[in-house]
This record gives sequence, structure tokens and C-alpha cells, in this order.
Amino acid sequence: MTPRPGRSTFQLKFFFAAISAAVLALAVAGVLFATSMRRQMDQRIEATLVVEARLAADLLAAATTQTTVPALDAEADRIGELIGARVTLIAPDGTVVGDSFETLDDVAAMENHGRRPEVLEAGAHGVGRSRRFSDTIKLDMLYVAVPVRHPAVGFVRVALPLTDVRHQLQTVLTATLTALGLALLGGAAIAWVFSTRIGQRVRLIAGIAERYQRGDLTPPHLGFGDDELGTVARALDASVQEVGRRLDEQARDRTRMEAILSGMVEGVIVVDAQGRLQLVNDAARQMLKLDDPAIGRPYVETIRLPAIVELVAAVLSGRTPEALQFSPPRDPARTIIARAAPSSGAAAYGLILVLHDITDLRRADQIRRDFVANVSHELRTPLTAIRGYVEALSEGDATADESQTFLEIIARHTQRMERLVKDLLRLARLDAGQETLDLAACETRGLADAVVADLAPEAAARRQRLEVAVAAPADLVRGDPAKLHDALRNLVANAITYAPEGTVIRIGAALEDGRVALSVADEGPGIPEEDLSRVFERFYRVDKSRARDPGGTGLGLAIVKHLVELHGGTVRAENRAEGGARFVVTLPLA
Ligand code: ADP
Repeated sequence: MTPRPGRSTFQLKFFFAAISAAVLALAVAGVLFATSMRRQMDQRIEATLVVEARLAADLLAAATTQTTVPALDAEADRIGELIGARVTLIAPDGTVVGDSFETLDDVAAMENHGRRPEVLEAGAHGVGRSRRFSDTIKLDMLYVAVPVRHPAVGFVRVALPLTDVRHQLQTVLTATLTALGLALLGGAAIAWVFSTRIGQRVRLIAGIAERYQRGDLTPPHLGFGDDELGTVARALDASVQEVGRRLDEQARDRTRMEAILSGMVEGVIVVDAQGRLQLVNDAARQMLKLDDPAIGRPYVETIRLPAIVELVAAVLSGRTPEALQFSPPRDPARTIIARAAPSSGAAAYGLILVLHDITDLRRADQIRRDFVANVSHELRTPLTAIRGYVEALSEGDATADESQTFLEIIARHTQRMERLVKDLLRLARLDAGQETLDLAACETRGLADAVVADLAPEAAARRQRLEVAVAAPADLVRGDPAKLHDALRNLVANAITYAPEGTVIRIGAALEDGRVALSVADEGPGIPEEDLSRVFERFYRVDKSRARDPGGTGLGLAIVKHLVELHGGTVRAENRAEGGARFVVTLPLA
């Protein structure tokens, strides 16, 4: 920033320049004026003296009777008094016969004036002039002599002391100098006013420029003026405002781009043509586990993955590489697909790498394939059995009892397939969101009693007892009664299936963290700890051998989980300390 003294320097410089010009102009004018004045005055005084000399000659020519020296000297005194100058009368031979400044005796003593330059010149040209020191009266004098027609006088000489002339000149010069001095003062005042005004404008413009430099681009309230200074300031102001607008736009674009990049699920990495890392967005940092990417440094210092190095090298050498799949070394369970393309269509501007994390996609794909394999497998077992027994029946070798048994087996497998297809369809409906909730406040006990009544024959067949215990604060639950019935029925049916004969199955309802917790506890073998979270997966069975086929589809708990989550609830499996499994469903209070 320019310091304050620098600002006033401009004003002072401007002022001194103006005043110097004024002084110079006035000095030159003064000298010229004084010289011409002096010349003019000299000429005028000389001309006056000539006129006076002629006048004196005329006066003398009229008094031709005066021929004696005393009479002539008296005449000289008289004429001298008349014209106010020294008058000397000189005889044609050069003898002084009268002088207005001298007494009669002194006149007689005066030397011959016949060789005086003015007298010689007057004799030759009619008028003679001379400036010199007068020995007689000891003064610098201006002499003018003219011839005269008179019997005793040849020349009349008029003289004026030069001190008089100089005095007159001095007066004029003093007046001139005073006028010049006043003019200079006036000029200085005007120069000061103008320099102050222009200094203020320059300071105003400099102040605005400094403000712009600090980044504050608010336009000034005052105008810049209509002269060239104003035009320059306006042009610069317009350029600065334009640059400011563009910078603003760029900043907005950048912020928008950064927001887009940081909000993207895809990882984006930008590398310039020299292979220096320019940008790594948040998604890319997370995918590649880059804690502190070295922006502006060669990208290999940050990313050493062979797949990325290969892609970057390919684009920088002008090729269009295929997408590459890789797993980050620090996270081998993930799969990332990387594509690279040159920025702005040419490798000269660097390149952009886009990373897609396809781990979830692949997992979903795997789940889908496993599901299809599982369904096929689940259908193949009963179908193989049915086909075998149908063939055995169609051969006609079986006895009536055997045929009966075969038909029962066929019927059981058919039912199993039917259950499977029913469960699959229900899951498909739940997946597609086609099952909507019909919410109501349901009585917990009523819900449990209905399930108990439903499954009483199965429990009785296995000599199991079903007990219901509902704590008072949990007697109402908010849910779709039909769907809650299905979920609870599934859990109790599982308990009946997996717990040994003659055991007790307890259905309970209690408050848990402000929610209703419905539980089904049995005295069966329980579930291995590592399978507790997985039993809710489709077709997941603890006993994978299927040797001991309890007739389930492997989809029951998946449907329970779906139904409960539809209510905004949770379901978990746990093992009881005293043995047996417990399934807990939590639901919102009514
Ligand atoms: P399934 O039709 O095979 O019963 P489910 O989804 O209902 O399918 O159950 C999944 C698996 O969870 C079962 O195969 C079984 O191994 C286990 N399981 C479910 N309930 C119980 C329980 N009460 N006791 C022990 N294991 C159970």
C-alpha cells in the first residue's frame, strides 16, 4: 500500500510545477516588459528634450537683440526655468555664452564646448545627442543640442540629469514588479486550489484502488469526473468490476463443482498432463483409504495401485483404455471399477479418473444368484422324490400298502413345494412393497392367544405346552394384526419344530426401552452364536445337512424380519442362559 506522504507528494508536485511555470512566465514577461519600457521611456525623454531644445532655439531666435553674455545667460536662465532643464547657449565658435545652471562668472570660466559630441553632431545633422558625465555639474547627463539662428549663439543645448530619467524608470519598474508579485500570489493561490482539488481526486481514486486491492469491490458512491482522469479511472473501474464479476462467477462455479464432487458417490481423481495430482474427492479418499493426498505432487506419491498407474499411463500416452477392476490392498473385500478419460477431450489438459465401488452391486448379484440356486435346489429335492414315487407307482409292482405310502410321500412333498412357492410369493410381494400396513392398536394377549389356538394341534402332537405371559404396560401394541399374527405364528411354529417333545414354549410381552417386546422362548437346542444374526437370511439353516428335515422352507424368519421391519420394529435371536432359543420382536407402543 502506498504510504500517506506519497499521496501529498502528487499534490505538491502538481502545485510546484504550476507555480514554477507561473514564475518563469512572469519573470520572462517582466524582463521583456521592463526592457521595452526602459527603451520607450528613454526614447520619449530624448524626444521631449529634442522638442524642448528646438523650443528653446525658437525662443532665442526671437530675442536677437540679446547678444551680450550677461543678457544671454539671463535668457538661458529664463528658458531653463520655462522648460525645467539645464539650458546652455554656445556661440558658433564653441564658447559658452549662457548656462541656466551656472553663474555669469562660472560661464566665463567654462571651457570651449565646440568639440562636445552633441554640438559636433548638431552642426553636422541638425540634432545632436549624448549621454555622459558632466564635469561642470558632476552628474551623468543626457544632452541634446540643436543649431540656432542667432547673431551671437550657434547652438542651444538642453540637458537633463540621468538620475531623473532613472528615477522615472525606477518608478515604472517598481510598479511593474509589484504587479508581477501580486500576479504571482494570485497564480499561487489558483495553483494551490487546483492542485488541492486534483490531489483530492487522485487520492479518492487511489483510495478506491487500494480498497479494490483488499478485495472489497463495492462500487464508489461518487463519480470520477468528466475529464481525462475521470475517463481513465472509469475505464479502470469498469475493468476491475468486470474482473471481480468473473472471479465471483469462477468462485461460484468452483463451489458448485466442489459441492457436486463431494456429494458424489463415485470417486473422482484429477491428474494434470504432467502427472501431478490436482483433485481427489471425498468418495475417492474413502475408497482408496487416502488420508492425506499430496495435491500438486506426482500422483504416484499418493496412489501406487497398478490398475490406476496403468490407466493414467494409457490416457497420457493418447490411448483410450478399458475400465479396470481392482480391490484396494488395504480393503481387499471391496471391488472398485475405474475408468479414465482425458479432460476436455485431450490428454494435454490432464485426465479424470472415475471410481465406482461395485462391492454392493456384486454382493446383490451374488445374493440373487445364490437365491436362484437355493430355490432350484429346494424345488429339485421334492420334485426328484415325487418323480421317483410316481415312476414306482406307474410300474404297478407296488402293493396296495406301498402305493398308499408312496401317495402320502408324494402328497407331503407337494405340500412342501406349495409352502415354498407360497413363502416365495409372499417375500416377492414384501420386496416389491405390495403389502401395505393396516395399523391399529392390537391387544397383545389376544394376538398371542390366537396364535396358541392356531398351533394347539401341532403342539399337542409333540406334547408341548404353550404358555402366555403379558406384562400390564405391554398389553397394547400398534401394528397390523394379521401381519403380526403371521410373524408370531412363524416364531412359535419354529419353536414347536425345533424344541424337543414335552417341553414348554413361552410367549411373553414386556416393555423394553419404551417399546413392546414380544418374545418366544423354547427349551430346544438353541442356535450357535455365529449363526444368531444369519438365521434371518433367506434359506439359511443352522443344520445344513438337511438330513434331519423338519419340513421348513428356510424362508420363515426372513418373512418375519420383513414384516417386523415394515412396522418399524426389530427382531433378534438369542440363546437363553438356561438353554433354548429366544426370539424377540420389538414394536412401537400403541
Ligand atoms: P425353516 O423353515 O427352516 O424353519 P426359518 O427361516 O424359519 O426356516 O428358520 C431358519 C433356521 O433357523 C432354521 O432352519 C433353524 O436352523 C433355525 N431356527 C429357527 N428357529 C429356531 C429355534 N426355535 N430353535 C433352534 N433353531 C431355530
